[in-house]
Amino acid sequence: MLKLYNTLSHQTEEFKPINPPHVGIYSCGPTVYDYQHIGHIRRYVGDDILIRVLKFNKFDIKHVMNITDVGHLTSDADTGEDKMEKGAKKFGKSVWDLAKMFENQFKDSCRELNVELPKDLMHATDYIKEQIELIKILEEKKFTYKTKDGIYFDTSKFKDYFKLSGQNPKELKAGARVEVVEGKRNVSDFALWKFSPQNEKRQMEWESPWGVGFPGWHIECSAMSMKALGENFDIHTGGIDHINIHHTNEIAQSEAATGKSFVNYWVHHNFLTVDGQKMSKSLGNTYTVGDVIKKGFDPLALRYLYLQTHYRQEMNFTWEALEAAQTALNRLRKEVASFDEPKIGCAEYEKEFLEAVNDDLNMPKALSVVWEVLASSYPKTAKAETLFKFDEILGLNLKDSRQILESQKKEIPKEVKKLLEEREVLRKAKKYEEADKIRNKIIEMGFKVEDR
Ligand SMILES: [Zn+2]
Repeated sequence: MLKLYNTLSHQTEEFKPINPPHVGIYSCGPTVYDYQHIGHIRRYVGDDILIRVLKFNKFDIKHVMNITDVGHLTSDADTGEDKMEKGAKKFGKSVWDLAKMFENQFKDSCRELNVELPKDLMHATDYIKEQIELIKILEEKKFTYKTKDGIYFDTSKFKDYFKLSGQNPKELKAGARVEVVEGKRNVSDFALWKFSPQNEKRQMEWESPWGVGFPGWHIECSAMSMKALGENFDIHTGGIDHINIHHTNEIAQSEAATGKSFVNYWVHHNFLTVDGQKMSKSLGNTYTVGDVIKKGFDPLALRYLYLQTHYRQEMNFTWEALEAAQTALNRLRKEVASFDEPKIGCAEYEKEFLEAVNDDLNMPKALSVVWEVLASSYPKTAKAETLFKFDEILGLNLKDSRQILESQKKEIPKEVKKLLEEREVLRKAKKYEEADKIRNKIIEMGFKVEDR
């Protein structure tokens, strides 16, 4: 029995699909205006684990993900610049080229981490017609009103607007989210369609029954998810930052339009910090998967590191922790590389593992079962059978352990050897700061330095 924490009911529940064994899942995808960093990617690895666990439980998955390439403003309160237009200026590209470039960076990062993305990602700009249709329904049902700046959803007309977030509307009014949009009736109202500014040509804009403009950010996910999965479907995922506004608004506009319950299970992933701090440009700590690879790590060591923290807990990333994860993964590979052909597995550990992953995706527990198997007295053939089965969820390429270890045994070039000697001299002279600089240089060249 698979149990998942459902943000909507605020508790852990047994997972029961609408139409078993079929399961429909929608994941909010990236806004492709900048690099996806390791905090973003943690979420997609989390989704990947969820999907692998569902498959392990013999469910038949239809997974849908969108790419936001229009309409996402820098502020969630429908003010500020369009993220895409802003990114285009920053990188000196057209919005369309920008979208392509960062979608590729996102896909590459996922591929490196063994995240299986849906084959066809849905682009918001390919479904403008569907979004307009949905707004028309909301207009007919009198959930909308017009301001100078666009068409808005009147949240006071939707009962249970705060059911997902559990927020108190009174606190919201007093809170920091009061950014003035002229003509907005309630603080929580949100744009369905925004008009293009007069006398200004946007790179992305479309005709609509209300005038030339572009869709609000939230409407795309309702329009595309319902088109792909139906008006009521099983699971919707996203980051915890989506709960209060984006997903709350998705529920309001979808249920207002259809009169049906929209999604049965809401799964939300927690954040990642770096050295205990929020990632930010000014701190220079917004690392990407590319940075991890450049420093000489196996990207799957990052996946291993992610698995060590439960998805609903905040995770703190440090380079030391990544090194420890790399060491653990290498040890695991060394063990696995010594295995013979798999035969019958270790039944009681397989049961324990299944219980862990089915308990709201408890991957830290599942990893500990991996090490229990290795430490057990089972023959290597049985261990192999069991660990390869686990790897369907872990996604650590354990079957390739031998080849991976072989390819890691690189020849150490002369320059690196020379740097190592220089570092030794500095360390003996207790000039640690300079020695560390050389160490970093060596790491940048793709090697690790371990003092034993
Ligand atoms: Zn979304």
